[in-house]
Parts: sequence; C-alpha cells; structure tokens
Amino acid sequence: MVGDGRVTTTSLVVATGGKSIPKMGATGFAYDVARQFGLKLTDTRPALVPLTFEPGALEKLTPLAGVSTNAVVSRGKTRFEEALLFTHRGLSGPAILQISSYWREGDPITVDLLPGEDALDFFRAARQSAPKQHLQTALAERLPKRLAQLVGDNINQPGMIGDFSDKKLTAAADAVNRWTLKPVGSEGYRTAEVTLGGIDTADLDAKTLMARTVPGLFFVGEAVDVTGWLGGYNFQWAWASGYAAGQVA
Ligand SMILES: Cc1cc2nc3c(=O)[nH]c(=O)nc-3n(C[C@H](O)[C@H](O)[C@H](O)COP(=O)(O)OP(=O)(O)OC[C@H]3O[C@@H](n4cnc5c(N)ncnc54)[C@H](O)[C@@H]3O)c2cc1C
Repeated sequence: MVGDGRVTTTSLVVATGGKSIPKMGATGFAYDVARQFGLKLTDTRPALVPLTFEPGALEKLTPLAGVSTNAVVSRGKTRFEEALLFTHRGLSGPAILQISSYWREGDPITVDLLPGEDALDFFRAARQSAPKQHLQTALAERLPKRLAQLVGDNINQPGMIGDFSDKKLTAAADAVNRWTLKPVGSEGYRTAEVTLGGIDTADLDAKTLMARTVPGLFFVGEAVDVTGWLGGYNFQWAWASGYAAGQVA
C-alpha cells in the first residue's frame, strides 16, 4: 500500500508479468500502463500450454490419461522431440507445451510416436518374425501398451500382421510416424506457463528496456513481447531484463 495511492518518482520499472495464471496473481496491469503511455502492444495469447480437442477426439484420448511417451511433435517445419503426455483434457507434456507457442487455431499438429525409427521397417520385420501376432502386439514392443492399442484402433485393420499387404502396413506406419491431430484450443491462461506477445520491443530501448518515448518508464520480464522455449529461458529473460533496467533506473 502506498498511502493515498500517489507516489512521485523519476523512474518506474514495471515488472508485473503477463496474463498467465490469474489465480497466481497475473493481471495484465503492465499492458494497461503501456497503453496509457501510448506504447504499442502485440497480440497476446496463452503459450507453453496444453492443447485441447473436440469431444469425439477427446473420447479416444482420455482412456490414455497418465500415459507418457517420447515423441516428435511438429506444426509445419517447427518440431520438438520431448515427452508427450495424455491427460483428461487432451495432450500435454513438454512436446505439446513447446509446440503450443507456434500452434494457431485451425492448424493440425503431427506426432511421430517412434522418433528416429521408420515404423514401416519395424512392421515389416515384425510381419516376418512373428506373422501371427496382431499389429498392436508388435507395436507394444515400442510404445506403452494402451497407446499401441489406440494406434491399432485408429488404423482399424484387424487380423494378423502376417496377412497385411505392404499397402496396409504403409498406412499403419503413417499412423505411427505421422499421426495428424487437430486441436481445437488450449487450456488458456488458466494453465499457460507464459504469455506470448505483450509490449512491443520496438518501443523499448534494447539495452535498458526504457520506453523510447517516456523517459524513466521501464518494462521488463514477461510483460514484454519476448517469449522463450521451455528450459529456463523465460526466467533468464525476466532476470536479465530486470538487471539491465535496474542498472539505470
Ligand atoms: C507454472 C509455471 C511454471 C513455469 N516454469 C518455468 C520454467 O521452468 N522456466 C522458465 O524459464 N519459466 C517458467 N515459467 C515462466 C516464468 O515463471 C515467467 O516467465 C517469469 O516468472 C516472468 O517473470 P516476471 O517477473 O516478468 O513476472 P512474474 O514472475 O509473473 O511476476 C509478476 C508479479 O507481479 C504481480 N502483479 C501482477 N499484477 C499486479 C498488480 N496489478 N499489482 C501488484 N502486483 C501485480 C504478480 O502477482 C506477480 O507476483 C513458468 C510459469 C508458470 C506459471
């Protein structure tokens, strides 16, 4: 509290973060201050956030809640190889959080459930070595059993792998190496680890983070339009920008 609410100062560093996780105190206050002083803002959206699916797709994913596997998740040319986690609400885990910062409404994402391995080669070898097994059984050598079952259900080609033509095996391999999913949204600011967008860096001095048109007014950390991958980059930015502003403010 600051008495009657008025404080006079020659410099002010605004470090009130972005919009992520209102329950933890996020307010978007920095954006209001920036707007008040005529600074530009870029569009904000939740990032590093789990992705959600329409009820039909979700119905298939939820029985796997708690299952995790290593995967490559991509959107266009952007790809991340990290853990993928199935949840009651959709998909999460580092691979999804990372891609969520690049995903936009309407985009499909592609999931490679066997990173670095050609599923077609794997299925062909399985067809040769144990032709009487089901495809899911073969796949369970590489994937968690429930996930192998889901892939089998998606392919929907019953019978023994020994009876599969090359064409059928290729379709099955695609479902493993190039599983395409269409998220409908994200869990939003409620669980987003960061906020994409914010105060336009063009309006801030690159060395001191002072507003170019308002001497003495600084913006640092997540309030600014700087967003990092998972791995500590957002903390690093918050601390480094705070330090830079603190040297001159
Ligand atoms: C669950 C979670 C996990 C994360 N994990 C990582 C990680 O592993 N690595 C990483 O690099 N980053 C991580 N982040 C992101 C990282 O925490 C933020 O990028 C970083 O803390 C931003 O620092 P900041 O100082 O700009 O803002 P914040 O840390 O958000 O601090 C802003 C403070 O201002 C307060 N505030 C807001 N509005 C007002 C107001 N009107 N009046 C008074 N106070 C106000 C807020 O309550 C808050 O205490 C994570 C974030 C979350 C939510």
